[in-house]
Amino acid sequence: MLILGGTGEARRLATALVEDGIDVLSSLAGRVADPVLPPGDVRVGGFGGAAGLVAWLRAEPVAALVDATHPFAATMTASAAEATGVTGTPLLRLQRPGWTPQPGDDWRWVDSLAEAAAAVSGFAHVFVTTGRQGLGAFAGLPGEVLVRSVDPPGSSLPQRTTVVLARGPFTVDEELALLREHRVDVVVTKDSGGGMTSAKLAAARELGLPVVMVRRPPAPTGVPVVATVEEATAWVRDRLGRQAG
Ligand code: NAP
Repeated sequence: MLILGGTGEARRLATALVEDGIDVLSSLAGRVADPVLPPGDVRVGGFGGAAGLVAWLRAEPVAALVDATHPFAATMTASAAEATGVTGTPLLRLQRPGWTPQPGDDWRWVDSLAEAAAAVSGFAHVFVTTGRQGLGAFAGLPGEVLVRSVDPPGSSLPQRTTVVLARGPFTVDEELALLREHRVDVVVTKDSGGGMTSAKLAAARELGLPVVMVRRPPAPTGVPVVATVEEATAWVRDRLGRQAG
């Protein structure tokens, strides 16, 4: 089994499959300097586009592939769909559901980081939680910008940036304290979904702050999608002709 990883779901899937005695190789992009590693074998680094992945799948004895990358890892997801279309390797997309607003939320949906930057350009204290990739989109912001990421961001930061290095999960109390400390008046996030980083949404609701929410890229057509690790585990067992448990 090849798992395209970089998410908590990918790690939990690897754990479940390894416990089943299945030979698992997890693939990581190598973006995070000190990643939390899943059990089983791990490889790090890109394949070289869809063509590289085709060559890799032809050289390695892979029975099936689960694309459990982040909902915003659209290039890898497209590559997996294209490559498995060529090699005939069974492919499943494991993608957690997006977030849904609750009463009291003031969410403003946008389609890209550039649109998000435009939407917050009039705010004085912006909290950007979209990860260190793509921060260049916010470089022109005139106000105070609080950036949170796992590893230090590179260049092209807004002029008045404060960086907080942290890896989720975060509690609502921690998020409230951070928002208050930095006098945040708007939060920017991707619609990542899941519980690891959702506390900021509850904190924003509590403080009555608007949230600029970047919509997910569309999923590739023709690839079956499941929302939970349990469904993905069942799919793998089915592919490998295994009994549950
Ligand atoms: P991306 O834009 O879709 O991927 C860019 C390139 O990185 C891909 O074309 C591929 O290189 C390589 N790559 C991505 N994921 C890979 C994997 N699991 N194994 C091997 N190569 C991989 O993805 P991204 O947004 O940079 O995300 C990179 C990784 O971080 C993913 O594993 C994702 O699950 C994780 N992540 C992303 C986000 C986010 O907001 N985007 C958030 C949390 C975690 P080649 O073309 O050379 O194969």
